Amino acid sequence: MTRTWIVTGGSRGFGRAVAARAAETGARVAIIARGAEVEAVAREIGGQTIGLVADVGDATAIRQAIAAVVDRWGSIDVLVNNAGLHRGGLIEQIDVNDWSDVLATNISGPFHMIRNVLPHMGETGSIVNVGAVVGFRGFAGDVAYGTSKAGLAGMTQVLAVELARRGIRVNLVIPGFVDTDMTAAITQRARTKLLQRIPLGRAGTAEEIAEVICWVANASYMTGSVVATDGGLMCSL
Ligand code: NAP
Repeated sequence: MTRTWIVTGGSRGFGRAVAARAAETGARVAIIARGAEVEAVAREIGGQTIGLVADVGDATAIRQAIAAVVDRWGSIDVLVNNAGLHRGGLIEQIDVNDWSDVLATNISGPFHMIRNVLPHMGETGSIVNVGAVVGFRGFAGDVAYGTSKAGLAGMTQVLAVELARRGIRVNLVIPGFVDTDMTAAITQRARTKLLQRIPLGRAGTAEEIAEVICWVANASYMTGSVVATDGGLMCSL
């Protein structure tokens, strides 16, 4: 049976790699991002992939995007809440708008997505949230991002229990450090320091993270799990 996936933040980084993997298996895939290039990316991925422009923090835009997927394909089997925003800053210095933007994307985004997808998700539905090591370990200067990712871990556990009776699974994948647009601004010094803490001694790749996200999405006896794919980083912090 052909399955329908929605991958938020599917225009680049991990999201694009997840969408490409799912499309390779013959799935119908809707990728969502704010930038208009998401439509061209969907064409590049090929298969049955469509691109939808929407901000996950905007409840109305998300309702419309999900309605477009349902109109086209009828139901949704897998939701990957991957879209994420990072803004750094110490507690007294972080711009209040940055704080709000990070929470809107990383917390309200998955909330709006899950609420609006659920009416269209059958009994084998699967939701994968994408967390971060910073949600589990303290990194100075990451109050907004760390708070948002810890909140997403909480949301995952609550909904794993709440939705289990409907057969819907909810899990959290925690990627380690990967070179993407999100991490491009990190200084060389900070990068070197971080790499030294990774037991496997290197950054991961978007494909290695996507492999785990897709595996978790399909794991039928897994819910409420926290799956790190971080080269051992959390063990060493
Ligand atoms: P990325 O390269 O910066 O890509 C982020 C994606 O999310 C883009 O497609 C972006 O497209 C989309 N996006 C951002 N804000 C959005 C919004 N409000 N609404 C809709 N789409 C939005 O990021 P990445 O490194 O692949 O990270 C993917 C996920 O993994 C994030 O949740 C991130 O927190 C997490 N993560 C990353 C790392 C890492 O080392 N890279 C480590 C741990 C966790 P637009 O900008 O066009 O909207």
